[in-house]
Amino acid sequence: MRTGGVFVMPAIEIRNVKKRYKALQALKGVSFTVEDGEFFGLLGPNGAGKTTLISILAGLARADEGSIAVRGHDVVADYRNARRNLGVVPQELVFDPFFTVRETLRIQSGYFGLRNNDAWIDEVMANLDLTEKADVNMRALSGGMKRRVLVAQALVHRPPVIVLDEPTAGVDVELRQTLWKFIARLNREGHTIVLTTHYLEEAEQLCDRIAMLRRGEMVALERTSTLLQRFAGTQLFLRFSEGVLPGELRALEVDPSNVNARQHLLRLASYDDVERILALCRANGCKLDEMEVRKADLEDVFVQVMNGPEVVEGLA
Ligand code: ATP
Repeated sequence: MRTGGVFVMPAIEIRNVKKRYKALQALKGVSFTVEDGEFFGLLGPNGAGKTTLISILAGLARADEGSIAVRGHDVVADYRNARRNLGVVPQELVFDPFFTVRETLRIQSGYFGLRNNDAWIDEVMANLDLTEKADVNMRALSGGMKRRVLVAQALVHRPPVIVLDEPTAGVDVELRQTLWKFIARLNREGHTIVLTTHYLEEAEQLCDRIAMLRRGEMVALERTSTLLQRFAGTQLFLRFSEGVLPGELRALEVDPSNVNARQHLLRLASYDDVERILALCRANGCKLDEMEVRKADLEDVFVQVMNGPEVVEGLA
């Protein structure tokens, strides 16, 4: 990327990465670039290959084919420099239970050759509301607190590129807010952030750009606002007290796999569609319990992309 005539190294460059586990092709040739300073979302349903990709990025697994570079450093050939530039918050909580929070963070600093790192460790702990727990043993912490330590551990060496693999899975609202405030600040200060999450409203709010993976393949890569415009648009929510959706409206369902016969979310090409849809419903003996016109969100986009890239047009 060029900014003001200066070439800026991409934060992460992923080229044609393939990974197979026995019969399962977990990644089928994934390529994309995360630019320096971006807040980037990597989304996909369970088993799409997100964690596999992050493991290869972090040097914990090897790709069968393809390459990944972190700020120009190949994660295999130049592992040490790639690792130095990267902070990864893994999905799983794995700790040595005998150390306190502060000791855990000091040991992690030691891996990166950082000795006098206490000022930054204190700052990270304060920002993650961990200060009170600094001298508590890891085994005595709740799951949410352990997750905060995982985040702190990934940040001890002030990595320019931070990857968070579902950091808010199973954590309370308070931690989510604390965490996002801190991560957003780091992003404003120039850190690149890559996030995987199943909370799509978080991704919608935070991410500049979003990649979607489905069964090891990239199915979308767009600016968040473009994705929302392209796929989402406006929708009509209907709940029937009597009758079923006329067959000719089935094609408009946002989620084609919807099995609830009473509730339907239909894609609108324009507001004129509302009148035509309601007239059709009336003609077919449907009675409405509830009706609402909604702006689609990232969750709707996700459902549409995962059900196939084609966007069904509005009423003919
Ligand atoms: P989730 O949202 O559930 O975390 P994910 O997108 O991170 O999913 P991965 O964990 O990368 O998906 O898994 C991709 C596929 O590879 C899955 O089908 C998974 O079962 C399989 N897989 C992952 N790790 C291994 C392994 N070590 N051995 C065999 N299969 C694996």
